[in-house]
Amino acid sequence: MLTNRQLFLRHVAQTNVAPLMLEIEKAEGVYLYDTNGKSYLDLIAGIAVSNVGHSHPKVVEAVKQQAEKYMHLMVYGEFVETPQVKYAERLCQFLPKALDNVYFTNSGAEATEGAMKLAKRATGRTQFVSFKQSYHGSTQGALSVMGNEYFKQQFRPLLPDTLQLRYNNMEDLAQISCRTAAVILEPVQAESGVTVPSVDFMHALRKQCDETGALLIVDEAQTGLGRTGKMFAFEHYSIEPDILLLAKAFGGGMPLGAFISSSDRMKLLTDNPVLGHITTFGGHPVCCAAGLAAFNVLTEENRIAEVERKGQLFEKLLVHPKINSVQRKGLMMALTFESFEMNKMIIDKCIEQGVLTDWFLFAPQCMRIAPPLIITEAQIETACAVIVKAINDL
Ligand code: PMP
Repeated sequence: MLTNRQLFLRHVAQTNVAPLMLEIEKAEGVYLYDTNGKSYLDLIAGIAVSNVGHSHPKVVEAVKQQAEKYMHLMVYGEFVETPQVKYAERLCQFLPKALDNVYFTNSGAEATEGAMKLAKRATGRTQFVSFKQSYHGSTQGALSVMGNEYFKQQFRPLLPDTLQLRYNNMEDLAQISCRTAAVILEPVQAESGVTVPSVDFMHALRKQCDETGALLIVDEAQTGLGRTGKMFAFEHYSIEPDILLLAKAFGGGMPLGAFISSSDRMKLLTDNPVLGHITTFGGHPVCCAAGLAAFNVLTEENRIAEVERKGQLFEKLLVHPKINSVQRKGLMMALTFESFEMNKMIIDKCIEQGVLTDWFLFAPQCMRIAPPLIITEAQIETACAVIVKAINDL
C-alpha cells in the first residue's frame, strides 16, 4: 500500500521540485505536530496567515457554529448573510472613512483581479503600474503586474499596458501619468525579502497618484491585520489607499480576501455591466465567521501592541557574522545569507530541530520569519537559539 507521502507525489499536482513534505496531524497555537508526534515551532504562520495561531479555540468555535447554521446559500451579493455583514461593519470601524465598502473574495489573487477591474471602470483608463519584485497573485491579471520576469515569461501574452517601476525609487514615480488607471503596491514588499519603503517615497507616491488621477491600490495580503505592528501597514506612512486589498490572515485560517473602497466607487460594479464582478463562494459565511472571530481575538487581546517588541527581540537574538543583513517591519523579517544553498542548509537543519522556517519567492538567499503574532518571548528565545546553532553547525 502506498503511503500518504507517495500518494501526495503521485496524485496531488506538484509545483515545487522539492516540497517540504511535512505530514501534519494537528496544529495548535504556534506549534505543528507531525504524524510521528514531532513538534515544530512555526515561524512562518502558513505564509503570514495564522496571525492568532493555529486553530484558535474562538475561531474553531465560530466555524462550528456557522457550519451548523448554514454554509453556502447563494452566489455573492444576493442574500443578507450575517457573518459578511458583521465582519464588513467591524472592519470598517478600523479603516479611514473613505474605505467603507467591502467586496469579499476567496483569495488574495482574486482581490487583486477585482481591484484592477474596479480601477479600470472608475478611471476609464487601462494602464497599471506596479513595482519590481512585487507579488500580487498568480492569476493572469495579477501575474501581469508581478514584478519578476522569470515567473511571467512562459505565460505571455499577459495584460498589455503594464509598467514596473523600481520600488522605493522617487525618480521612477514620474512615469505614473494621466494614462494610469492604478498603481498597485505592497506597503512592505514581502517576497523581495521584506523591503521597507521610506515615508517620503510613500508620500510622493500618494501625491503623484492624486495629481494624475491614478488610483492607489495598497495590497496588504501579507502586511495586514497586525503583521507589521499596526492593524494596516499603510498607517506607518500616514497615507490612505483608494483601494485596499486583504487576504491571508483575513480569514483566520480559512480562505478569504477582500478589496475595499468607497461605496460610490464600488457602486460602479452594479451598472454597465450589471454584476460587474461575480463570485460563487467569495465571502463564504463560514470563512467570514472565522475571519471575524480571529479579528476580534487580535483586537480584544490587544495583540498588535506586542508585535514591534517581539520583532525587536528576534533582531537582538539573531546576530551572527554569517547573517549579512536583516530586514524587518514588526514580525515580518528576512535574514540574508550569502547564497540560497547556505540558506537552504540552515532551513533544513532548523526543521530537523523542530523550527519551521522558509525562504522568499524572489529572495531565495533570505530566511523568512513571520510567526503567529501570539508567539511568546520564551518561544522566540527557543527559536533563535535553534537558528543560531544551525548557522554555527554549517
Ligand atoms: N498579494 C500579496 C502581497 C501576497 O503575498 C499574496 C500571496 N503570497 C497574494 C497577493 C495572493 O494571495 P493568494 O495566494 O491568496 O491568491
